[in-house]
Amino acid sequence: MRLRYLVAAVVTLAFALGGRQLWYRNRPSPTIAPGVLALDSTPPAIESPDTLHRGETLAHLFARHGLGAAEVKHVASMLDPRKLRAGLVFHVRRPHADSAPDQISVRTGPEQRVRLTRLPATWLATAEPIRWYVDTVRYAGSIESSLYEALDRAVPWSSLASEERMKLAWELADVFAWQLDFSRDLQPGDKFRVVLERRTSEEGETQVGSVLAADLEVNGRPVSAFRFSEKDKPGFFDAAGLSLRRAFLRAPVEFRRISSRFNRARMHPVLGYARRHEGTDYAADPGTPVMSAGDGTVVSTGWSGGYGNMVVVRHRSGITTRYGHLRGFAAGVRAGASVSQGEVIGYVGSTGLATGPHLHYEFRVNGAARDPSRVDLGNGEPIAPSLKPAFDADRVLLTHLLLAQPVTAVATKPANAPPP
Ligand SMILES: [Zn+2]
Repeated sequence: MRLRYLVAAVVTLAFALGGRQLWYRNRPSPTIAPGVLALDSTPPAIESPDTLHRGETLAHLFARHGLGAAEVKHVASMLDPRKLRAGLVFHVRRPHADSAPDQISVRTGPEQRVRLTRLPATWLATAEPIRWYVDTVRYAGSIESSLYEALDRAVPWSSLASEERMKLAWELADVFAWQLDFSRDLQPGDKFRVVLERRTSEEGETQVGSVLAADLEVNGRPVSAFRFSEKDKPGFFDAAGLSLRRAFLRAPVEFRRISSRFNRARMHPVLGYARRHEGTDYAADPGTPVMSAGDGTVVSTGWSGGYGNMVVVRHRSGITTRYGHLRGFAAGVRAGASVSQGEVIGYVGSTGLATGPHLHYEFRVNGAARDPSRVDLGNGEPIAPSLKPAFDADRVLLTHLLLAQPVTAVATKPANAPPP
């Protein structure tokens, strides 16, 4: 199914490079029967927005529009009180300037609007789904200080809301969680390209959908990712069809939680002199979840001198990982327990020799500390041979999209309804 959209995407792209919001092109134009002159003599209804303010009840708001107490009670009973909060905008419609409202509509959530219509003796409430459209967009740019900053610069606000750009940075960090430690691997001058699905509501809000493909150039080294589903389970694969998933995450804390981006200090913050530092430090708020970097067995949890509260996990091939300065341990994490990759094992703190909250992370091979961002984690699992042709077809199309001119929108499909 995805493939069909991609074919459409590339065909559209080929014919309409530089175009945007192309789904408008597929809309039927309004037709007027020949010879009929449409004249509407009824004056247009008047619709005015009104916001529910802090500390205000629906009665206050409806009273402003001339609804009586009994009527207000009846109308209010049709709205879910859990969804009523300050800031909600009610659109109140009246047929003429001097008449009572005959319709009230309110957007109660991202996916729904409630419309209240006056009938002769009562009001009728109807829930209407908000229509969202999905199109495929491509963003590209270069990195100066962080991925978020780069996306912020490369993506016009009209194309994607600010908080959604932040979300896209996190999504990309998740896609490459086994290849890159986004808190320290990126350098000024690195480049990114990403093709993703963007959702746009009928009221113009935008949201990040699935990332379809991305490629980065980090320190001159290219890394790419193509989304593909095996048995309905989506994953990311490189150009050769090898999974990006590896035995170890590059960083055992979520990128979004790490506060210092380029922390390469080697001066010990407490001892005050540069000492041989055998691990990687991640500054993060106290209580931030710490994840096991790979599947393994807990060797020990407890106090360990300057490390403070520490968890040690043993993995295959003589590899151990250590997580120090923890505020506390996750429930069930004790010697002998099995942990899986990404499982929360403890929480960032500042126990032991630490001036501020941070995670001290060590990756050891046969007892010797190694830089976890440099260690070779081998190749990923190849895609199933029977699915390889389908993957290759998708990859070719996605590569076209990745390499295209920086158009803002290249193709569309409806998410939950046809365009109006
Ligand atoms: Zn440290």
